[in-house]
Amino acid sequence: MASEGQDSRNKTSWGLLFLRIFSVKVIIIIFIVFILISLIGLLLAGRSAQQETSNIGNGCSITGKLDENFFNATLENAGVFKGKGDKFISIAKKQNIDPVLFAAIAMSETGWGKSDAVVHKNNPGGLMDASTGMSTVKQFATLDEGLEAMGVTLHNRIINDGLNTIEKLGAIYAPIGASNDPTGLNQNWVPTVTSISQKFGGLTMNCSNTASSGGTGKYIIPVKNPVVSSGFSNRINPVTGVQERHKGLDFAQPAGTEILAADDGVVVFSGLGVSGSGYGGYGNVVHLEHNKNKEWTLYGHMLRTNVKVGQHVKQGDVIGYVGSTGQSTGNHLHFEIRKEKMGSQVDPAPILGVISTN
Ligand SMILES: [Zn+2]
Repeated sequence: MASEGQDSRNKTSWGLLFLRIFSVKVIIIIFIVFILISLIGLLLAGRSAQQETSNIGNGCSITGKLDENFFNATLENAGVFKGKGDKFISIAKKQNIDPVLFAAIAMSETGWGKSDAVVHKNNPGGLMDASTGMSTVKQFATLDEGLEAMGVTLHNRIINDGLNTIEKLGAIYAPIGASNDPTGLNQNWVPTVTSISQKFGGLTMNCSNTASSGGTGKYIIPVKNPVVSSGFSNRINPVTGVQERHKGLDFAQPAGTEILAADDGVVVFSGLGVSGSGYGGYGNVVHLEHNKNKEWTLYGHMLRTNVKVGQHVKQGDVIGYVGSTGQSTGNHLHFEIRKEKMGSQVDPAPILGVISTN
């Protein structure tokens, strides 16, 4: 019995030894596989870093997503801009511009929030004062006011003028060889703004888009085979029963009919219009800004939208599909032409050349 016991103990230790050798082999194999994976990873990372560098070269490296915490943390060391992250982001959203580009230009113009212009005049964008013949920097009552004004200016340059890369903006902000730049500092603008953009996590939008051609200035009818079911007029609202001005044209169409962009433009809103947003009642709605006419068109009650905010569309692009979302009683497209972003609608019928029955 004892020898048998001994024997079985021996067997056990042989087993342990086998397991130990086996484990060592497994560990070595795992180690080799790990090294191989790391090498492949490094190779891929190197390739993507190379890609990124080449994008930085033209001032356009899109990450596509804003890391808000990182963005706000970067502003913590930016002088008067400390704590202004949410303000940058909300203005950028309103103006349909990249918050990273917005912040990078503000940092570049103000030496990270420490220049006299921003500290004493609340002017983060180097905006000049028209009342002094552009000879002095404009004074703003608050920094928020200065940021709002800078946002409007950037919107006009990037969205309306199509200056959607750092290079194109640099040619306006800091023209190389300008008479007011005798020491040639302007040549630093593009590399500086590019490098600051990286510090904020990289550009997130706009610059991937090619410059808007500006469009034709002549709208096409936004649906094929248009039937006007309700014209631009005073009428009794069929849902509320209240007399109101109908500020667009309705085209009755089967659900799912393609809705076309009336002209080239930039998407300033796309999605469900919730009450209080300025798009309440429109259901799924797309709002386009047209550079050529300095006008806006709006397409309401969609089944679904087919475009994203910031996207540049061409005339005739499918921007959504007819539905009956929002304040609507049947499938139709509600179409508006606006002289101002949030109002001043005009009758589209004579502009489109369609016959409106009422
Ligand atoms: Zn309508």
